[in-house]
Amino acid sequence: MKINAKLVASFGTVLVTTLVVFGRISYSTFTESAHMASDKIISLQSSEIIYHTTKSLRKEVGNIEQQLSLYMQVNACSLGSDKESKDLLEGFAKHDPLFRSISLSPRRGNLPPPEFQTWMDEFEANHFEPFLTRRGDDLLLLWPTQTPQGAAFFVITLDPAYFAAKLSSSMTNSGYLNVSGAAIVLTSHGKPLLEPVLQDPQKTLARDILTGVDIDALAEHVEDKGEYFIYRPADTLFDADLTMVVPKKFNQDNLVKLKNRILAAMLIVAWISVWIMLVIAYRISSPIRKLSKITKDIIEFNYTTEMEIPPSNDEIGELAENFENMRQKIKTLVTEDPLTQVYNRRFVMHLFDLAVLKASASNTPLCCIMMDIDFFKKVNDTYGHQGGDAVLMAVGKVLKEISRDYDTPARYGGEEFLCLLPETTLPDAVAIAERIRMAVKGLTVVFGEIELRCTVSLGVAEYVVGRAESTDEIIRDADNALYQAKENGRDQVVVCRQEPNAVVCPAGEEGATV
Ligand code: GH3
Ligand code: MG
Ligand code: MG
Repeated sequence: MKINAKLVASFGTVLVTTLVVFGRISYSTFTESAHMASDKIISLQSSEIIYHTTKSLRKEVGNIEQQLSLYMQVNACSLGSDKESKDLLEGFAKHDPLFRSISLSPRRGNLPPPEFQTWMDEFEANHFEPFLTRRGDDLLLLWPTQTPQGAAFFVITLDPAYFAAKLSSSMTNSGYLNVSGAAIVLTSHGKPLLEPVLQDPQKTLARDILTGVDIDALAEHVEDKGEYFIYRPADTLFDADLTMVVPKKFNQDNLVKLKNRILAAMLIVAWISVWIMLVIAYRISSPIRKLSKITKDIIEFNYTTEMEIPPSNDEIGELAENFENMRQKIKTLVTEDPLTQVYNRRFVMHLFDLAVLKASASNTPLCCIMMDIDFFKKVNDTYGHQGGDAVLMAVGKVLKEISRDYDTPARYGGEEFLCLLPETTLPDAVAIAERIRMAVKGLTVVFGEIELRCTVSLGVAEYVVGRAESTDEIIRDADNALYQAKENGRDQVVVCRQEPNAVVCPAGEEGATV
């Protein structure tokens, strides 16, 4: 199994398992918390409705307070006894359809005691909070105020239908009206103060089940029906409770929408993760594949291909850099002659075989030069092996300098060198050989305080179909030509003749003839 496939498989398994396990867990947690969140949202909306209703009532009563206080300051009248002040209040009541009647009272007056007892006690103890309750068919709002004569309170009779309309407009303002089938029930001490205010008057169910029922029983009743949720915000509207009734379907729809969004998000995450993983897998496996190819090249003696892995700061980059250093070291060890630093025999023979194949396939010329240092033994005998080594190194350097990029000078053995000349015709090869001969002849090798000089003999041969077609045969021809050069007196180039019966041609006095 390839590394990419392994990575894909393992990552896929981990991803699917994670999605299944965590998806399951987070979905349950989500469902639970979504219920809680939805409770909170609706509670928040109820608080908003309470806030809106309270604000609008405060504003309206505040207007009356302002007018009245102005009137009382101008006329210095006493509370309750002044007919004009009463008329004024009545005027306000008539002016705003929310108010059926308004009067101002400094004390309990003639309020029926049982419902108001607690509030009145609190009022007299300077706790000035408005209070909303029911009296007969009316809603009664007790509103504390300050007058020049001291603390007093408005006794305001509200029109229940109009109040319900105000509540409904608060629902609109808070955005709660969008929930189809929702209702609000206003209660005081568990008793409904108003007919339920319905968001959607066509929905009669809520009205049927809510009317006149004790709210706790109602909650149970409604929840039993399995169609509605009941929420009670912490805030109260002038001591009255506001209970919201919301169809279950509203929650469920929201949950389904949220679930779909979560699923879509999970799928997108999974999709992106798979792509990221594929890119990572590719970035790991691609350099490894390239390194593997380079290993094959090393085994096959091919050191010509360059490393294609782009440099990077990660482990792969480090591996590639170490690998390249190793490749260069192996290349030097395997291909180079350590003394002369030209290619060694093993490598030049490998290149020779490849060059022969290419020459035969593409029908291009191929030549080689076999070169031997003249009387080298004498150098060794006279100046020692170190003297001989110095000459060998200097000759190797000359060969490297003279050779063209695509020629391959190599140390064939002892003091013998072989130059492989691909795509080179025989006359060109002879010219190169001659250049080498002259260069070596002009060379002065400094060995300690002595200056050494030497000459070389060279044999040139070429690839000839039908006669010298293999590496061994061409080298054999070059060797024969070299032998002839030695025989002819050394320090010269001899070319192997191409005629079947004449193996080598003798050289001229100086230089080579073809
Ligand atoms: P000719 O002109 O006929 O080639 O004579 P020659 O003396 O060059 O030939 P011969 O084959 O008799 O001597 C080659 C010498 O090269 C013998 C050997 O000791 C020496 N030799 C071979 N390899 C090395 C080497 O790596 N270093 C040194 N210093 N000498 C070497
Ligand atoms: Mg020799
Ligand atoms: Mg020699």
